[in-house]
Amino acid sequence: MGRQERPYQIARPGSIARSVDAMVLNRLFCDGACLMSQTTPTAPSVVDLAEALMACPSVTPATGPVFDCLEGQLAPLGFEVTRFLAGEAPDGPVENLFAIRRGPAGSRHFAFAGHLDVVPPGEGWTSAPFQPERRGVGENALLYGRGAVDMKGSIAAMVAAVAQIPAEAGTVSFVITGDEEGPALHGTLALIDLMKQKGDIPDLCLVGEPTSVNRLGDMMKVGRRGSVNIWLEVDGVQGHVAYPHLADNPITRLVAMLAELDALVLDEGTDWFQASNLEVTDVSCGNPATNVIPARASARISIRFNDLHTGDSLSRRVTDIAQKHGGSARPIVSGEAFLTPPGAFSAMLAEAIRAETGVDPELSTSGGTSDARFLKDLSPVIEFGLCNATMHKRDEAVAIADLDALARIYRRVTLAALAGG
Ligand SMILES: [Zn+2]
Repeated sequence: MGRQERPYQIARPGSIARSVDAMVLNRLFCDGACLMSQTTPTAPSVVDLAEALMACPSVTPATGPVFDCLEGQLAPLGFEVTRFLAGEAPDGPVENLFAIRRGPAGSRHFAFAGHLDVVPPGEGWTSAPFQPERRGVGENALLYGRGAVDMKGSIAAMVAAVAQIPAEAGTVSFVITGDEEGPALHGTLALIDLMKQKGDIPDLCLVGEPTSVNRLGDMMKVGRRGSVNIWLEVDGVQGHVAYPHLADNPITRLVAMLAELDALVLDEGTDWFQASNLEVTDVSCGNPATNVIPARASARISIRFNDLHTGDSLSRRVTDIAQKHGGSARPIVSGEAFLTPPGAFSAMLAEAIRAETGVDPELSTSGGTSDARFLKDLSPVIEFGLCNATMHKRDEAVAIADLDALARIYRRVTLAALAGG
């Protein structure tokens, strides 16, 4: 049975375990004496690159050592690396890295985008989350540690891919932030500003988020829905329940407002997106007294919307309904919807995936938001990466065979994109 027929599984802890010493890895990759700068023609192994990144704790917002490590991997490959800090506490400072290796004049430019920050590990791991551990052998070998799939493993695969691509093939860049898992205010947006300033606008951009579901290659994301949260409030007049004519109950009006909002049919979906959806996510009044009509009632809704809407258009629509019921609305748009219509880029990526795994990828727009919502302003953008079964969970793990296959897929699609394929 070929690899592609094997369902993705996480092995039980045990069998063969090898704990990786962060100090050793840092000596290999982060102190300038990088493996790749030595005379050996051997390409860097993806799993070694991934372990080195995973051994640097980088809970969001990330700065410092994990970026030193990636710079240590990219500089010997001929990349010019720019790093900078952005933002202040509590959301920052955030570190960002832009690395570029320019091809001959007039070459096409292919960008890899991603993040080195990770979510907090939480409790109950069977090995130390920032001490990557290999378990199992052969096809069943897994690498455990925070960031294995989301998304230091993908970044390692990108590095390994470009190590196998000659500089003459074209311009390649890395757009890497330490602020994706947090508020994402000082990360990719700041990197996009820098790229615009430098005039380094890619022709295509691939984000390495873990989009595969059951096996590597079964899904890529060609779009994502947008997201807006809206806080609703209704003020009334407080009073005694026995004298309602002397009061104005805000709950009555809030309930009517929510009923009208809940009944909205925003759209029926499109060829590429499911229907936009509005959910009530909180209702509160905080009134402990049984004999008091409260002075204020509030609620919150969350809308995930497709590319028939914008955060602004939905905010206006909800505000009108809120005001009609004597209330107010305070919207915060966390991201607009985007779609890279299926075409040459998705076909090129699908071909690379098929060639390396035998899997035919589904083109999806499902799931939450990602930094692709910003990158879409630079160039067509698609997300493709490892299996997401363990992302954000304890015992996050990746199949080592998947890391190798992903590097080969990334190499293929980069070469095709640079060739103008
Ligand atoms: Zn991620």
